[in-house]
Amino acid sequence: MTSRDPSSTVRRSREIERQVTGRTTSDGAGVRLTRVLTPDLQQRLDPFLLLDAFRSDDPEDYIGGFPDHPHRGFETVTYMLAGRVRHRDSGGHEGLVSAGGVQWMTAARGVVHSEMPEQEDGLMQGFQLWLNLPARDKMNAPTYRDISAAEIPIVTDAEGVRVKVIAGESRGITGAVSKRVTEPVFLDLELPASRRYAAPLPPGHNAFVYVYDGALEVGERRVVVAQGRMGILTTDQAADGVMLAAAEPSRVLLLAGAPLRQPIVQYGPFVMNTAGEIRQALEDAAAGRLGAIPTGNQPAKE
Ligand code: FE
Repeated sequence: MTSRDPSSTVRRSREIERQVTGRTTSDGAGVRLTRVLTPDLQQRLDPFLLLDAFRSDDPEDYIGGFPDHPHRGFETVTYMLAGRVRHRDSGGHEGLVSAGGVQWMTAARGVVHSEMPEQEDGLMQGFQLWLNLPARDKMNAPTYRDISAAEIPIVTDAEGVRVKVIAGESRGITGAVSKRVTEPVFLDLELPASRRYAAPLPPGHNAFVYVYDGALEVGERRVVVAQGRMGILTTDQAADGVMLAAAEPSRVLLLAGAPLRQPIVQYGPFVMNTAGEIRQALEDAAAGRLGAIPTGNQPAKE
């Protein structure tokens, strides 16, 4: 924690620029999910590349998991609200992400990993975010970090608004993860009905909210963002944050990051800057140069 005044307010709020309804799809070995941040929004929401939301108590929707598959060029951040997922990767890392916990994997030059449910029934709920890496860091060595729920600061303010600071800094509270260059802010907020919350944000960051429970009013105009919707916030150099108000008890992710302003070339699990780099990633993956998981799972059928 720093000594900054935690009651700081927002003098000028960002507003809702556009609302997005996610697209229902399946990925991995038949996992049902909602793709909230789709490729057409990657430029606008630079440095964020993808946000998937999943929530089901039907094992048919999740039991297949994500068997062995590669990544290169970015970071994957998995945040679980309910359920358990076992991660294994070609770097020899293994971890279990469970309710309230986060897994932060910097794929960089490449990993092969698997993300498999470690439950046969019950609720599985959470998110996966893809965060781009600056061009100069895309071929660095991969890293992996498991962050348990206990390691993530949670603050409840006088209004009863509960803020979980996963990454970045908010009202003087430093989150579990701090990253240079993209400087991501990743907050999970729970607002009681009719309560307001002023979230300061760096003015140059691209930012959005995703309402996963309830309904939220955003900005001075108090535009309602309903459950299951993403609200893209204006990037306004004159705005020092965003005002949020709960139309009903609400839970919401607030994400912001500094844009990288570099070309984005994606092919499936690879995100690079040029088509040539994508060809190289495909060659490296085909030749086994991204490695293999020591213990091994079934190969993905995609
Ligand atoms: Fe993956």
